[in-house]
Parts: sequence; C-alpha cells; structure tokens
Amino acid sequence: MRYRIGVDLGGTNIAVGVVDEEYRILGRGKIKTRAPRPAEEIAADMASACRMALSEAGLTEADVEWIGVGSPGIIDPVAGLVEFSNNLDFHHVPLRRLFSEATGKPVFLENDANVAAFGEALAGGARGFSDVVALTLGTGVGGGIIIGGKIYAGSNHAGAELGHVGMVYGGLPCSCGHSGCVEMYCSVKALIRQTREKMRARPDSAMWQMCGGDIEQVGGRLAFQAQRAGDEAAGEVVRQYIDYLGYAVTNFISIFQPQIVLIGGGISHEGEPLLGPVRAYVRAHRLFENAATRVEAATLSNDAGIIGAAFLGI
Ligand SMILES: [Zn+2]
Repeated sequence: MRYRIGVDLGGTNIAVGVVDEEYRILGRGKIKTRAPRPAEEIAADMASACRMALSEAGLTEADVEWIGVGSPGIIDPVAGLVEFSNNLDFHHVPLRRLFSEATGKPVFLENDANVAAFGEALAGGARGFSDVVALTLGTGVGGGIIIGGKIYAGSNHAGAELGHVGMVYGGLPCSCGHSGCVEMYCSVKALIRQTREKMRARPDSAMWQMCGGDIEQVGGRLAFQAQRAGDEAAGEVVRQYIDYLGYAVTNFISIFQPQIVLIGGGISHEGEPLLGPVRAYVRAHRLFENAATRVEAATLSNDAGIIGAAFLGI
C-alpha cells in the first residue's frame, strides 16, 4: 500500500490527512493557520500537522510518497507559487519549495477549490465521472472544473472562478471588481440578504418568529426551514434562490457539458428540496433536449480538499 499526505491550507485551519490508495484517511492533524504571518512559519506548522497525522496513522515519513497542498488564492502549480492569496496575505510565495524543505518530500500545490473538485471526482459525489463542474455554496461561491479527469484552471492558473462569472448585467457590485457575479446571488451571504429583504417586505412572515424577531440572527437555513413549516414568504425566497442557482448551473452546463454538476457547501445539506427544483430548472432551460448532465450533492465535505490534495501527484 502506498500513502500520500493531503494538506488543506485554509485561512483559519491547516487540516492534514494521511490517505491510502483507496482514498481512506488513516490519520489526521490540525493546526490553526494564524494568518497573516511569515510563510516559513506556516510551512513549519504544516509540517508539524503532517507529523501528527502520520503518528495517528501509525506510519513514518519514510512511508509517504509525496504531499499535496490545496491553498486558497491564485496558485501557479508549475512554478509552485502562491501568486496571491487574500486569506493568507501571501504575495508571490514559493510555498512548494518552503514546504518541501520543511518535510524533505516532493510537494504538489494547487488551488483549494480545484483540489476539492478533484477529490470529489476521485472519491466523492462525482466518482467515476471524468468531466465535472463543482460549485461550493459557502460565504462565497467556489468553483472547480475537471476535464478528462484533470483539473482545468486555464492558461494563467486563475480560471474556474465560477463564483465570479457574471449572471446579472448591471447587477450587484462584487468584491472582485466585477458586478452581477454568481456569488452575489447564489452564496450563503446572498441567501441571507435575500431572506432579510423578504422579511422587511413581509412583516407577517413566520421567519420573524423563527429568528427570535432579530433580523441579525438570520442564517442561510432559515428560509428553507420556514418554507417547510409552510411560510409563504419563505417559499418565495427559496424559489427565487433556486432560480438563480438553476440559471448559473444551466450556464455552466452550456459551456462545459459535464457529465455531472456537483453542489457542495452548507446549503447543499438541504438535499432534494434544493437539488430537485434545480434539476427541473435545468431540464426546462437547457440547450440540448437530450443532454443528461446530472446535478448531485457533493459528499466529502471538508475531506474533499485533503483527498484531492493527496492525489495531486498522480
Ligand atoms: Zn465577483
């Protein structure tokens, strides 16, 4: 059996797993990222987290073939650089070299959303599919594209930013500098904004009682919960949100014609009440009647980044 290590380097945590050839995580390590701080220190803590994971797995460094890292930001996997990461405050950081020096192992580096999509394609909701579009609906909207079983990131390694594809001309301004981005309509943050707007317009909505009368307490699940409880205004929020998401997914299907679109992140836990109507939207609006792209939920959650990273060397 061969073992590899996957590192999910986040703005908050460094999460590490020792992964075997069957995509099983045998041991884990976790350390706070405490960004911003010097990249050498973060690389040293990533190496410590790897040692924790190896010890839990009952293995040693000699058992490890290579280490893969998924990092936020714009990554140049060929040069091994984090070109820019807002979350880590990294500018042109040679993370592959620093981490390889800290561990004595070959290191592979990729963007975290791309790595998570790769993990889902290898071992998760898109297992067995070679052409995959993955959307993660979190605070923002992350995107990953797998074509022919490989990560597609474009010529500047900055592609697959599906959250920053425009979908409303002249729409809401986005932090990226563009406007009307998918992220402004399909993220958890967007859903919370849409929920609050509806509540202000509908003082009769049960959503008010469900959040204790405090609009600041509104989370991404409230509209779905209130819809299930029969609240009409909540149903309108959910239907509008699903229309936005269906619109975005239909666009991505028209561009890539993947075998499967995977929806991940917190909102994907809503399951069929979310996915069923998105599939219906896609069926009603797709370009090719016979195209049969599936729309499913991601299954690996945070482990997708660890498993995908561990297999970057294949
Ligand atoms: Zn944007």
